[in-house]
Amino acid sequence: MEIKLSEKLKKLPPYIFIEIDKKKQAAIDKGADIISLGVGDPDMSTPQHIVESMQKAVADPKNHHYPMGTGLLSFRQAVASWFQKRFNVTLNPKNEIAALLGSKEGIGHTHLAFINPGDVVLIPEPGYPVYNTGTIFTDGVPYFMPLLEKNGFLPDLEAIPEDVAKKAKLMFLNYPNNPASAVATKEFFSKIVAFAKKYNIIVCHDAAYSELYYESKPISFLEVEGARDVGVEFHSLSKTYNMTGWRIAWVCGNPDIVGAIVKVKDNYDSGAFQAVQEAAITALTASQDCIEEFRKIYKERRDVLVDGLNKLGWNVTTPEASFYVWAKVPKGYKSADVVGKLLDEAAIVCTPGNGLGESGEGYVRFALTVPVSRIKEALERIAKIQW
Ligand SMILES: *Cc1c(COP(=O)(O)O)cnc(C)c1O
Repeated sequence: MEIKLSEKLKKLPPYIFIEIDKKKQAAIDKGADIISLGVGDPDMSTPQHIVESMQKAVADPKNHHYPMGTGLLSFRQAVASWFQKRFNVTLNPKNEIAALLGSKEGIGHTHLAFINPGDVVLIPEPGYPVYNTGTIFTDGVPYFMPLLEKNGFLPDLEAIPEDVAKKAKLMFLNYPNNPASAVATKEFFSKIVAFAKKYNIIVCHDAAYSELYYESKPISFLEVEGARDVGVEFHSLSKTYNMTGWRIAWVCGNPDIVGAIVKVKDNYDSGAFQAVQEAAITALTASQDCIEEFRKIYKERRDVLVDGLNKLGWNVTTPEASFYVWAKVPKGYKSADVVGKLLDEAAIVCTPGNGLGESGEGYVRFALTVPVSRIKEALERIAKIQW
């Protein structure tokens, strides 16, 4: 029998990290000693106290049943007190917070709650592919907002045509930004709130990297006046606590928006495994010193890579947050050329900027997910490439 895919599935671009992984695997099979700076998955493991909490919770029969769609009340309370401490924002655990099976899941399902065919979704590019995937799956129309260096990698709201803004139903934002590592200001978020109110647009802010900062703490969208009238924020334990495999995150903010996302999820999944939620409670309520350790480690890696590349004549700015270095490629090259050269001549895997959106052309993204010794090795290999 011929298996015919849906038009929507056929419309999806190939998931870039799966493509990169295939090339990486092919090089490994040929015996290459690959240094992988591609996908943003922390190389360090989940802190022991969180693992132990999970071990205990998994042995408890009360956790062996279907969880509740919005998450345990105790999980939502832990999120609320973490949020209060970190951002000085008060959230009601009853209706302003819901657990997710990772923020990718929550983001990908959000469109189903709000998008009718033809509705416009405002999407930053380059950016995380899932904002667009959800748009394709709901027959929405993506409008890509370029993130350019000259604008501090913030979208230029004035460049959005009036008729597009009027048809827009959802806007995605992501700060600290993947891949451009930029952070947002209060002034920018205030402008977003005004824009969203003017055109009736729901704002979804993806804050997956809020804790991976270096010099100063990134703010929450919900800190800005009026934000809760128009939007929600997605947070994840994945990058903060090295828990990418555990699949636990949350959405918080406007109760009607949170409620609508929960309604979609109630029909698709039956909630996050309670033992995982117990471990997440431990992560959020125990000492946060482990994150401070991770920040120190990423900072050292960041400084070694940025200084090293700049000494080799690249023109790389130091990221303020996230574990990515968004590097302009050497003059005269395209993103794909550089990714190819780095793989073929130096066995280094990185992500082509244009694979994350056309404004990413001319950049490559390095993830700081290998030890300093390997970053130094990567720099030595790059130094030997003939440009
Ligand atoms: C990694 C990442 C996420 C997803 O994390 P989950 O593991 O699904 O919680 C969300 N947004 C961005 C921008 C990311 O880079």
